[in-house]
Amino acid sequence: MQTILTGVRANEEPTLGNFLGAYTPMVNLAHEHATDSQINMFVPDLHSFTTPIDHGKFYNQIIKGIKYYIAAGLDINNPNVHIYRQSRVPAHCELCWILDCFTPFGEASRMTQFKEKSSEHSDNVTVGLFNYPILMAADILLYDAKYIPLGEDQFQHLELARNIAIRMNNKFNDELFTVPAPEKEQVKFMHLENALRIRSLTNPTKKMSKSSTVEKSKISLSDEPKVAAKKIMSATTDSEGVIRFDMINQPGISNLLQIESLLANRDLQDVIADWAGQTSYGDLKRKVADSVEHFLADFQARVAGITDAEVEQVLASGEKYANDVANAKLAKVQHAIGLSK
Ligand code: ATP
Ligand code: MG
Repeated sequence: MQTILTGVRANEEPTLGNFLGAYTPMVNLAHEHATDSQINMFVPDLHSFTTPIDHGKFYNQIIKGIKYYIAAGLDINNPNVHIYRQSRVPAHCELCWILDCFTPFGEASRMTQFKEKSSEHSDNVTVGLFNYPILMAADILLYDAKYIPLGEDQFQHLELARNIAIRMNNKFNDELFTVPAPEKEQVKFMHLENALRIRSLTNPTKKMSKSSTVEKSKISLSDEPKVAAKKIMSATTDSEGVIRFDMINQPGISNLLQIESLLANRDLQDVIADWAGQTSYGDLKRKVADSVEHFLADFQARVAGITDAEVEQVLASGEKYANDVANAKLAKVQHAIGLSK
């Protein structure tokens, strides 16, 4: 069976960008491939403090993250669905070290997210932040995952994971790792035209990020629905005065059209056609604000209905499965590189 895998860091409250860019494609794929794939949705908790976080809130944030996966629609009664915490599967770190030693420093240094995040946190740039994409490669390769639903910002890291897998397969054994599908195939698998990049509401040339300290730039999944609607109403747009989908010249308006199509589960082209030529940005904002408000109220009610006991049960079986699969792969790698006979 092929494996589909994804994760969302638990450093901060996830945003609408995470929901639309990672949760939704994963949940849709989990339905579509309920019987022909293993569906691994994990919390990359060890990735969560590559940049500074509030450690006092961290544990609860991890548990909440798991409730979010369930509330987003992941079917926990399907035996092919596995939810686990990265930190409870030690093979991730062990494989990471091995992969580190087969990753040229220059190649890892090209990661643009490291450059961006290290300039944002210039007073506290850690080795962990630099190494994060290689731990991510281990997260993927341990499970032979072919499809990894991700937002656009993560595709460079996926390409690195592919390069590492190809290099190690060439050196040791053609069948050591499943090489994840390239970007175009991933996007097609998600039934998208392009990888998704939901924009910041205050600076739509940038992506919406959960670690942003500008509260108005992001819709957090725990935002009070009415507060979130206000954020949409005050989103930065442009002075063109006509509604068009044009991410280069009108990224703010295009972002709103994109959010509306995803929340309403409608084809982007249909939403664009509905609004083509209209001139009232206020009307579009009201429509999107309404959709966001309804989405959050509904989602938060579902989250509130999930108990800690349910989460514990899901993790117990997910973490057993993950350790079994990951340990078997690690043993294979240890054998290939000569650590065992
Ligand atoms: P941080 O600011 O802490 O890096 P983030 O919002 O970038 O947070 P991640 O945990 O790094 O979130 O990414 C989790 C998943 O969400 C990844 O698949 C990533 O591609 C996706 N994602 C993040 N931001 C967006 C966005 N604005 N649009 C679409 N997908 C996104
Ligand atoms: Mg990120």
